[in-house]
Amino acid sequence: MIPFEEAYQIIRTSVVPLEKETVLLADSQNRILAEEIVSDVNIPPFNKAAMDGFACRRTDLPGPLRIVDEIPAGKFPTVEIKEGECARIMTGAPIPKGADTVFMVEYHEIQPDGSVIFTRDKTANNICLLGEDVKEGDVVLSKGTLIKPQEIAILAGAGKTNIEVFRRPIVGVISTGSELVEPNILPAAGQIRNSNGHQMVAQLKRMGMVGEYFGIVPDSQEELRKAIHSAMKMIDVLFISGGVSVGDYDFVPLVLQELEFEILITSIATKPGKHTLFARKEGKYVLGFPGNPVSSFVQLETVGRELLCSLMGNQPKLLKFKCVLLDDYHRKASDRLEFLPVQITETGKVKLLPYNGSAHIHVLSKANAIMEIPIGVKQIEQGDLVSVRPL
Ligand code: AMP
Ligand code: MG
Repeated sequence: MIPFEEAYQIIRTSVVPLEKETVLLADSQNRILAEEIVSDVNIPPFNKAAMDGFACRRTDLPGPLRIVDEIPAGKFPTVEIKEGECARIMTGAPIPKGADTVFMVEYHEIQPDGSVIFTRDKTANNICLLGEDVKEGDVVLSKGTLIKPQEIAILAGAGKTNIEVFRRPIVGVISTGSELVEPNILPAAGQIRNSNGHQMVAQLKRMGMVGEYFGIVPDSQEELRKAIHSAMKMIDVLFISGGVSVGDYDFVPLVLQELEFEILITSIATKPGKHTLFARKEGKYVLGFPGNPVSSFVQLETVGRELLCSLMGNQPKLLKFKCVLLDDYHRKASDRLEFLPVQITETGKVKLLPYNGSAHIHVLSKANAIMEIPIGVKQIEQGDLVSVRPL
């Protein structure tokens, strides 16, 4: 059993990142940048009005000011603002020469002679300065960045329409277990429905990955070998659940050896998910997860994500923070890092949920976070700080 951090380290150092490819801006979400992005413009590209109002010289306030121009967004002003003058200006329009302030339209009054006065005694200048967000030539995104909607905006602003990203691994999902039937079947005696195969495909989709579902394989050495062998021809990574521990019918490790995979991890000091397996062969990788749905869920979100991100040249930055625990917590053994499904309340505190162990699939849908209990910790008191990561 190796510590969790060591498992991460093994995964990170034993994968070779996939090749690069170019995608269109519209297709780049959830991909990982394989190039540095440099802005080809200043943002904003000119001094612009932050408000609808009147562009003028601050020293002339409160007026009256003669209105000499009207500047909508998209028009470049040609009239200079001189003493006692102003221009009507709209948000986003360039500030005319001579003006240093925009006072808000809400605080104006037109005089009988058509001039305007400012009706307050104080105003900010309400001008966004040229290049105050980004200067031309600035690096706006670095290699290895995960592209989310926020990054799409930056790419668009930098004029990038073709984007170099790392290729996404094609991930296959297999559920093993002779007791499993698909969701459309009413289980007979001794059978259960395959939940985590579908959960894994959905987790992959949520990460923006391509998940190929290869179905259920019974606990037969022969059938498992055939299924893994043929799936590996079509994919880069296999996520396989069940059959990875030490029972008589747990054939996954044996079959991987037969197929000449190098097994790099056989167990990790986590709960759930102790029997998590990692193997590789010629640029292809297998992660084997214990069959219980909470185990496979947590392991996919942690080591699974780490593997996929490593293949795409990125280290996932998962949000993790400390919150106050609302209940007392106790466990008997403390030799593993425990991941416990919990609920963060609206007041930012952590509530424990009724939890029967890793087969308890319903707990995950009530949970909105995973609490981590470090190795060596058996007891946590109500009011103590605990580490949580949102789901
Ligand atoms: P295993 O890892 O094969 O020893 O399975 C551990 C437990 O998880 C057993 O109770 C299995 O029946 C259950 N299990 C295995 N695979 C699945 C699956 N795909 N969906 C739901 N439960 C499963
Ligand atoms: Mg099994």
